[in-house]
Amino acid sequence: MTAILMSVAAGLLLAVLLLLWHWRRSHAAQAAILRAREEHLTVALWGSGERFWDFDLARRDLHVLDCDESELPSGTGLSVTSRKMPLPAVHPQDRRQVRRRLRAHLRGREPLFTSEHRVDLHGDGHWIWTRVRGRTVERDARGRPRRLAGTARDTTASRHADAERRIASEVLRSMSEAVAVLDHDLYFVAVNPAFTLITGYSDVEALGRPLSLLDSGRHDGLPGALRDELARRPQWQGNVWMTRRDGEEILCQVRHNGIGDMAGEFNFHVVVLSDITEQKRAEQELRYLANYDALTSLPNRSLLSDRLARAIVRARREGGHVAVLFLDLDRFKHVNDSLGHAVGDRVLRAAAERVQRAVGTQHTVARLGGDEFTVVLEALAAPEEAEEAARRVLEAFAEPLVCGEHGEITISPSIGISLFPGHANAPTELIKHADTAMYQAKSAGRRTWQVYSAHMDESARRRATLSSLLRRVLERGELALVYQPRYSLHERRVVGVEALLRWRNPEFGLVPPDQFIPLAEDTGLILEIGEWVLKEACTVLRGWHEAGLDGMRMSVNVSAIQLLRGDLAATLARILDETGVAAGLLELELTESAIMDNVGRSAGVLHACRALGVGLAVDDFGTGYSSLAYLKRLPLTTLKIDQEFVGDLACDPDDEAITSTVIAMGHSLSLLVVAEGVETAAQLQFLREHGCDEIQGHYIAAAMEQDACLAFLRQPTLLPD
Ligand code: C2E
Ligand code: MG
Ligand code: MG
Repeated sequence: MTAILMSVAAGLLLAVLLLLWHWRRSHAAQAAILRAREEHLTVALWGSGERFWDFDLARRDLHVLDCDESELPSGTGLSVTSRKMPLPAVHPQDRRQVRRRLRAHLRGREPLFTSEHRVDLHGDGHWIWTRVRGRTVERDARGRPRRLAGTARDTTASRHADAERRIASEVLRSMSEAVAVLDHDLYFVAVNPAFTLITGYSDVEALGRPLSLLDSGRHDGLPGALRDELARRPQWQGNVWMTRRDGEEILCQVRHNGIGDMAGEFNFHVVVLSDITEQKRAEQELRYLANYDALTSLPNRSLLSDRLARAIVRARREGGHVAVLFLDLDRFKHVNDSLGHAVGDRVLRAAAERVQRAVGTQHTVARLGGDEFTVVLEALAAPEEAEEAARRVLEAFAEPLVCGEHGEITISPSIGISLFPGHANAPTELIKHADTAMYQAKSAGRRTWQVYSAHMDESARRRATLSSLLRRVLERGELALVYQPRYSLHERRVVGVEALLRWRNPEFGLVPPDQFIPLAEDTGLILEIGEWVLKEACTVLRGWHEAGLDGMRMSVNVSAIQLLRGDLAATLARILDETGVAAGLLELELTESAIMDNVGRSAGVLHACRALGVGLAVDDFGTGYSSLAYLKRLPLTTLKIDQEFVGDLACDPDDEAITSTVIAMGHSLSLLVVAEGVETAAQLQFLREHGCDEIQGHYIAAAMEQDACLAFLRQPTLLPD
């Protein structure tokens, strides 16, 4: 029995043990399944970056499931914690939206509650963006939601990145520089609106096309340059010519940045282009303006100095001569003042061309400003070649310039010459000396040249002093007239006088008119001086008439400037009126060049003067370029043969021939012919034989002061027959 009981007990124990073993085994399997499930859940939670939440609506209890994100999901080490936390504050600006969405879900209008808003998790004022998704997981007996559960995710960082992306694309869009993104093979993958504006290609037209789309065809075109440079460095910058869609070439400043991957390969290229064509053009223009004269396109003073300096260096090395020709257009100021600046500009352009043509393009012709030009003659074998060039320049001005409706204008330069190495070594000195010599040429009667010599510096100084003293000559009463009788060969008596101007200066003594009249013409002072001369001469003549010399005539010299500027005829009429001199007893003397300088304008003035009844004489006839045919059209009355021809009468057959021809031609034009500078009986004889009407010169009398002249005029003039 005991044995039976023992075996039953053992059997039972075994059954219990077996049962226990089975139970434990199935329990262990269950636990393993649960553990695995939990682990999957944890890893999924960690991997998703989400956190779970569970909210009891009635109790307002919030439970969250957190995963320690700092750890790697080794599978076992990852810890998930469940904790109760207070409901976080929602940002005031987002509250309405959260409430609205929650209500929509709780009332069954939305299957899910979704919202992205800012919350303050720790109550410390630090707002983070969260994206929350959830749904009702439990309802009460009446079906009202009791529990909500779901996930939440911190989106602060991605929202920042989003904002950055948006800002970057907005910046790109609004940039005035063209931006293009190119792929590894230099095909466009993105362009901004400025790119379209600058290149003319829309994004649709550019995307997917190669960079060579913009190739200008020049050898330094964009793709070529880029390809070469890209191979070498991740960044590159340079100026490249490109072609716009419309074919126009533009110069672009290109900045390139390669965007590399981890391996250092450039997968993308960002190219920023700015159109600098205009800027370059402006720079070039500035450079041009800095070196060239805008009116004539000739080099200006600065480029001239440069070229002259180089010429000197070369001449020093090679042993040649350099000459500087300083040109000033005679009486240009008056062309400008009387005919206007537009005509003045045309004259300057035409003059520039003539000078350049005369000296040849291998030499530098520059405009220093105003009517001053400078020529640098290089590689001269001998200094005389400079004078030869000056002669050619003067010849080039023999023909008048044609100035549209203003007709022909005859203008001539006065030229000063300085030489390297003879006169100076420095460019500035050479130019200064040529300038000095030019003034000397002006004093020598204009339309000529002079080579610099040291004594000219003295006369230049004197001229500068005289010029400043001249300004006060009228108010100081330093001007005076002297009178030279004119003798009629027919009537055998003195029939008139010529008034000649004198300047009595306390410092310089008696300054001859040849020295100060050109200065007065340059400053325009000649207008006032000329008027004074006319008034004084007429007053004196009127006095002589009253003293019994009625019928005595007076000749007054008039400058070209008086003819071109001012109102000569009106002035004359007023003076005749004021002094009561009969117009027929007054004669104006004008040099040939004064008349011919601007025939168009002088003809009008001459006609107006002649209309008053005043006589008009051509002075110094034979020295200028005028032709009798031209003079025929002017209302002239008298021809004065220059003393240059008269001086050699009776010894130079040429001058005799010229003089006799001029007398005959003058008569054929019904002009009274007067010979100037008659000093000998032989000259008088010749002139008488050839029918000259009147003579003037030391043979009769030199110029005299008013009283002496009056006394002379009262005496009969006795000449041998
Ligand atoms: P011009 O009108 O031809 O005057 C004649 C010049 O020859 C005068 O010189 C006179 O003194 C000089 N002369 C006269 N007879 C003889 C002679 O037999 N032998 C020599 N060797 N010379 C003689 P001047 O007075 O020095 O005048 C020079 C020039 O100055 C004048 O030449 C004239 O063109 C100009 N001039 C004189 N007065 C005036 C004036 O009031 N206004 C203007 N615009 N020019 C004037
Ligand atoms: Mg005269
Ligand atoms: Mg004369």
